[in-house]
Amino acid sequence: MLRWLKTAAVKPGLPDPQKANTPEKKNLIENVNESVEKEMLTCSPSSPSGSRKRKRGNYERFSPETKAKIARYAINHGASKAARYYSTTLNKNVQESTVQRFKTAYLLESKRNDGSPITALTPQKRGRPPLLGNLDEDVQDYIKDLRISGGIINTNIVRCIGRGVFLHKDKFQLEEFGGPMTSEKILFVFDFDHTVIDDDSDLYCKRLAPGGKIPHEIEKTYSDLGWTHYMGLIFDYLHKHGVTEKQYRECMNEIPLRDGMRELIEHDWCDLSTVNLYKGQIVVDHKEKREREGTQYKCVVLVGDRNNDFCPALRLSEKDVVCPRINYRLWKKIQKLKSESEDGNDGLKIQAQVVNWTSGLEILEFLKTLN
Ligand SMILES: [Mg+2]
Repeated sequence: MLRWLKTAAVKPGLPDPQKANTPEKKNLIENVNESVEKEMLTCSPSSPSGSRKRKRGNYERFSPETKAKIARYAINHGASKAARYYSTTLNKNVQESTVQRFKTAYLLESKRNDGSPITALTPQKRGRPPLLGNLDEDVQDYIKDLRISGGIINTNIVRCIGRGVFLHKDKFQLEEFGGPMTSEKILFVFDFDHTVIDDDSDLYCKRLAPGGKIPHEIEKTYSDLGWTHYMGLIFDYLHKHGVTEKQYRECMNEIPLRDGMRELIEHDWCDLSTVNLYKGQIVVDHKEKREREGTQYKCVVLVGDRNNDFCPALRLSEKDVVCPRINYRLWKKIQKLKSESEDGNDGLKIQAQVVNWTSGLEILEFLKTLN
């Protein structure tokens, strides 16, 4: 297969230059094919460049007005009641998780509009504006041709196409030729509680206990035995009282996302990795593993709020970014460190650039300046 890939005139799944309608396009396809071929030859089946398929549910379609109605009903009567009611009224399967999504979107939209009622939930515009200037069209054309030829399209391939187009048309824009363009990715690391969501997911689950109350004998263990043991006892207690995985999922779905997090997470940045319950070592290991697989990172962006985000923050380098949530422990700790070093105290140091945040939109604005 490899031998054939190297010797065949037209590579499988790549656009055929002979079919181009202008000599310029023929030339461009030949050159970009070379970049993409290299990627196809170097990717291993387990690497992210492989043809891994994402599973997707069968989404039912709803009009923006219906979405808003369902969300309002869920806010007033609860998500499961809304799912049942609209499954009957609309005569289609309305999933409770779908209702939760509408509810969260509704609450966010309403907040953006100073709490006024929303009559239609229109989908957020996704993706980023063209960053490649007038060469963006060439990249898009090539992607279309690649799709028609049945080739694989993923982030690595698209990155190679971008690079290939620049190499052929305007190589001095590329970082390696002294230009501002880099094709490296950003590794995002998100904390979860009070960062992605606006609550503590462990504590939130306590409401699943009978009567929403955890017995005092368990509550009092927290101060003596610590958080992990305390939560272990709570989950044991919930399990004994028949709390199901479905109930946990529904409970998690109820927790609103932090302002701007949906926009930040959905934005089409290069790479996105969610690591819950991470420690510094997990971030370092993950980064090294991906680098061994051939992914080069421009920087790591770490978004968090608590003391346990401090350890990975200390391990970041000058080219990385740490985003502590304002007025939360990580932010306070970093503030303290800064004032100590200003006083000439040479203790621990955060080398990464610090970008404080309250809404995910502030991080998004900062990230736009990185390109
Ligand atoms: Mg947290």
